[in-house]
Amino acid sequence: MITRFRPYFSYLRPQRGLLSVAILCGIVAGVASGAGLPLMIDQVFPVIFSGKADALSPWQLLGVILWIPVVFLLRGVAGYFNTYLIQLIGTRVLEAIRLDFFRKLQVLPLSFFQKNSSGDLLSRGLSDANQLQVTLTTVANEIIRSPATLIGALTVIVWKAYQIEGVTLVLVTLAVVPLSVLPIRYIGKKLIRRASHIQTELGGVTGIFSENLTATKEVRAFNLEEREVGRFARASQTLIRAQMKFVKYEKALAPLIEIVAAVGISFTLLYAYKVQLDQKTFTTLLLALYASYEPIKKLGGLNNEMKRGLGALDRLEAVLQTPVAIVDALDARPLHRATGELGFENVGFAYATAEPVLRDVTINIPAGTVCALVGPSGAGKSTFANLVPRFFDPVAGRVTLDGHDLRALRLADLRRNIAVVSQDPVLFNDTIFNNLLVARPEATVADVEHAARAAYAHDFVLSFPEGYATVVGERGARLSGGQKQRLALARAFLRNAPILILDEATSALDSESEAAIQLALRQLVVGKTVLIIAHRFSTIRDATKILVFDHGEIVAYGSHAELHAGNDLYRSLYDRQQQSA
Ligand code: ADP
Repeated sequence: MITRFRPYFSYLRPQRGLLSVAILCGIVAGVASGAGLPLMIDQVFPVIFSGKADALSPWQLLGVILWIPVVFLLRGVAGYFNTYLIQLIGTRVLEAIRLDFFRKLQVLPLSFFQKNSSGDLLSRGLSDANQLQVTLTTVANEIIRSPATLIGALTVIVWKAYQIEGVTLVLVTLAVVPLSVLPIRYIGKKLIRRASHIQTELGGVTGIFSENLTATKEVRAFNLEEREVGRFARASQTLIRAQMKFVKYEKALAPLIEIVAAVGISFTLLYAYKVQLDQKTFTTLLLALYASYEPIKKLGGLNNEMKRGLGALDRLEAVLQTPVAIVDALDARPLHRATGELGFENVGFAYATAEPVLRDVTINIPAGTVCALVGPSGAGKSTFANLVPRFFDPVAGRVTLDGHDLRALRLADLRRNIAVVSQDPVLFNDTIFNNLLVARPEATVADVEHAARAAYAHDFVLSFPEGYATVVGERGARLSGGQKQRLALARAFLRNAPILILDEATSALDSESEAAIQLALRQLVVGKTVLIIAHRFSTIRDATKILVFDHGEIVAYGSHAELHAGNDLYRSLYDRQQQSA
């Protein structure tokens, strides 16, 4: 089973130093609890019970009996550092795995997210990674410490077994130990509860994760991959700090209890000395209490733990090993500012499932053409537009920009030349200013305001008490549909890319937004190659060229007047829209 985890040992490599200290501490703690303790008693008891102690001063006597707490101290401290370090290594490994997982999500093709629900991906990235960490740390902890304890204890037990006589003192010690331990347990539990409170309040990691998953298009269109990874890495670190605070208390509890118990036991010894109890009985008791029970219990649980870990690993690997279909070719050429001529040559496309969605589409769109894509719903308009920023690659033929096959261009350069405005634009839970800035991170305040003015967004932004510093809520929840649309247009103005892809909102916007958006659009399209998935006839009429789609083919191409006169499908679509308006 352990071989399945082998590929992940590489995550441990940077932690080698810590790991060796942790292992060393594990061995020390194991031996101290298994063999050290009974042996200590074996050395101390004869002094107490053989009458030799009569010759000692009270201080010397104290020195002798304190040997036992000292062994416990050694065991407790080594054990503490063993578990703490293993946990620290575990969280670092987890952090690395989780970051790799998240990084992978930034570059996976969009088709991947249509096949996998975001909830499922969330639980893989968080719970399964967590489970894997629990497994790794539990196994790493116990696989060294428990056998060491067991072997040490068994050796002593076998050696001493024949001396056992009575059990009187068992009851005495069993009564003393819990009494001294209860108050610590109580305080410790309270501490742990407070620490875990902090932890549950840190839903930040999940929040950023799920938001990122709902903005897959924006991340690609605006080249936000690095920014997103950074944001996630920071939240992840905060979470880890809180978790380690929790671990610090939690893992200190057991050794603390044992140290106190050891003090209790040592005073029981004093009592034993007073009432002249039998040394061997005492030894047997301690052996029975500490020797073999814990390690056997723990080793028994490891098998189940490994199974849980393997399940989690399978689910993580399903994502980590998904091939990234859309990547830069090795010899990808850089592209600065494109002129914006688009070519589709015999392009065919089908989603993974079935039916071809685009069939043998050939068209040349000269730079600076404002193209409206019209046609019945499901005809392939969005799919056609999505091929331009390479959200998908065609299965046949090729798409070109300025004469170059898109697949030969650097992906980030290609996308830098494109502004995408979707039907339902996604805003990040950040200020309006930062939401606009994603379109061009190097823009100045003046640039941002200029773009917002052009999109008729400046006035409504200033009407908020905090203006551009207003935080918009998750997915822009605090803004109306029309306001979000205008901010999306402001992003496109700011980006000022030679190619604009616009999916018009189908839902009715308030009339003020509607008018503002129409005015802004007229400005925005000037001098750009524009693909508008058009739902409004006003937009359609303003376009220089219209592409009519039907069943995955471009059935007509021309101006409004030409098509209205010569194409039945176009005329019926157009007339129907005009009637409903
Ligand atoms: P339009 O934009 O013209 O309404 P689309 O390009 O969105 O059309 O869709 C074209 C066809 O592809 C439709 O039949 C649609 O059901 C199908 N389709 C769209 N997206 C997917 C997808 N992710 N997986 C499978 N089929 C899809």
